[in-house]
Amino acid sequence: MRILVVEDEKRIADFLSRGLQGAGYAVDTAATGGQALDCVHSADYDLVILDLMLPDMDGMQVLERVRSRQVGPPVLILSARGALDDRVKGLEQGADDYLVKPFAFVELLARVRALLRRGQPAPEKLQVSDLTLDCIRRKVARAGESIELAPKEFGILEYMMRNKGRPLSRTMIVEHVWDMDYDGLTNIVDVYIRHLRSKIDDRFTQKLIQTVRGIGYMIESPDKPAERTAEPAAERQV
Ligand code: CA
Repeated sequence: MRILVVEDEKRIADFLSRGLQGAGYAVDTAATGGQALDCVHSADYDLVILDLMLPDMDGMQVLERVRSRQVGPPVLILSARGALDDRVKGLEQGADDYLVKPFAFVELLARVRALLRRGQPAPEKLQVSDLTLDCIRRKVARAGESIELAPKEFGILEYMMRNKGRPLSRTMIVEHVWDMDYDGLTNIVDVYIRHLRSKIDDRFTQKLIQTVRGIGYMIESPDKPAERTAEPAAERQV
């Protein structure tokens, strides 16, 4: 992941650069709007952190130029101008986030991570064998037949399908699908998997949801279609 830091104040630029490099990112810095545009035109960045008050131009102009590119990186504005007007204007002009100076580095890092995650291409439609899941319309179908799922069931299935072929522990599933206020048992996952199986797998000879002993669950197309009909023991807690 490569980040461009556009900041004319050397002290802040160095601080950001060191911190982000320490967090594992490749970082380039630009001290003027002109340099920033040169960088953006000559390299592919996953994120641009942009100061608004630059010596040669307003950061908003840089933003405008970055946004005029077809596939521009996300832009996080970092500015001492914290007025609501400035924030609204920045976001309206296509900035993805806005952080007011002074800021805590941990907060910046959290925003950076969120923006970079968002930049990951997420397929709209997932497929495992004849099971399809439409992430946008939130529809599930197997062999062309539509299946109704409750929201949590959908969340678990989507998570499993995004990680097709990868065993997921109950804890991973809980952390992904329930919010952080949930402090119940991971057994709840077994309950939901049972519901999912009854809706997705029971009527079909090909079972897609697999129990991975000692770990949890996984979804994949079975190697031997029509032969895995036995329900493996799923109740052991990890
Ligand atoms: Ca500045």
